[in-house]
Amino acid sequence: MSERVREKLNILADAAKYDVSCSSSGSNRKNNNKGLGDTGGGICHTYTEDGRCVSLLKILLTNFCIYDCAYCVTRKSNDIKRAAFTVQEVVDLTMNFYRRNYIEGLFLSSGIFKNADYTMERLVQVAKKLRTEHKFNGYIHLKSIPGASDELMHEAGLYADRLSINIEIPTESGLKLLAPEKNRKDMIAPMNYLKEEIIAKKEEKRLFKKAPMFAPAGQSTQMIIGAGKETDRDIMYTADKFYRGFQLKRVYYSGYVPISNDSRLPGLGSSVPMVRENRLYQTDWLMRFYGFNVRELLNDANPHLDLEIDPKLGWALRNLNCFPIDINKADLHLILRVPGIGMQSAHKIISARKFHKLSWEHLKKIGVALNRAKYFIICNSNEMERRDLTETKIRQFILAGSESKYLKNSIQQLSLF
Ligand code: SF4
Repeated sequence: MSERVREKLNILADAAKYDVSCSSSGSNRKNNNKGLGDTGGGICHTYTEDGRCVSLLKILLTNFCIYDCAYCVTRKSNDIKRAAFTVQEVVDLTMNFYRRNYIEGLFLSSGIFKNADYTMERLVQVAKKLRTEHKFNGYIHLKSIPGASDELMHEAGLYADRLSINIEIPTESGLKLLAPEKNRKDMIAPMNYLKEEIIAKKEEKRLFKKAPMFAPAGQSTQMIIGAGKETDRDIMYTADKFYRGFQLKRVYYSGYVPISNDSRLPGLGSSVPMVRENRLYQTDWLMRFYGFNVRELLNDANPHLDLEIDPKLGWALRNLNCFPIDINKADLHLILRVPGIGMQSAHKIISARKFHKLSWEHLKKIGVALNRAKYFIICNSNEMERRDLTETKIRQFILAGSESKYLKNSIQQLSLF
């Protein structure tokens, strides 16, 4: 690699680290022995200490940008070193790194040169060259440029596994304040186009096996958390709206990293606690897989997630009247609402109770976290643990339990050294 390309790589990989939406699950691009790579076996992700994904070659095509979004390190008014790859340079880097087994795919985003179409065209050219000239079957995630034409979005879908367009700021008023040159409509139009195309192409593929794939890993988006004054309710209501409206595979929540002393933003010393991101992901999970409506978890009375306890426990404590549930009789959707019972354990409970009545011992073997679940369930004996405990008492007991467990683990870990 030449010195010039190495320098560009340093600049443009560093600029890309703020984007967390690079997980690569959900694609299945088979290698037919004429090409290189294969996403079918699943791509591993590794994460840096601060939780960011580093398994793909994750770069910007350029960090030049005509926009001035206050929260972005690439904004035009920021006095930073700028660089831009050529299309061929990105293709060569990807192929070289892939052959050396450094990466399993490419995550390519970009600042906006000239205009949306000009930039999107270059992103598409990278993917097209990799697929057609190099028969590359590794994973490709392209960040789509808001405002890009339908034709370019169509081409992008033919070559990329996943496409994503960042919503960036959860509320429209926040976007107006921090990125006044942008608007939601430009983000929504390509998302809508992609949704329609993905549905149509799936149907086509069902009817004709040889029909081309179109963004087989779907589309996703990312929101920056904590740059504006939005509540967790605002964030998750927006996520819910986008999941429903555009059939997104994932919404990513990225804590704002202070990069500017702009008075519209939180000060340079502040940062979004990692636990807030974590609680948002847990809420997202509950909405998508556990049958919770977002309004049950966040509403006018509870606009913020409790950072001390997870959102499922928070909901259960606010709704003690729904408990205890009988683990030997309750439906799956109710079992899934019990703190300490995950998806796998809930399914195991349903299967196991076909053969015999479950006891506390059985539940323990199944993997239920009884230190939490015991306040919300009964099994083959009476309600042993809950007695007439109040919300505050149960909360205290659980927190004390997890704290002592945490301390015990820490002590065990320390004893290893
Ligand atoms: S358009 Fe994108 S890259 Fe450019 S300043 Fe805004 S967020 Fe940053």
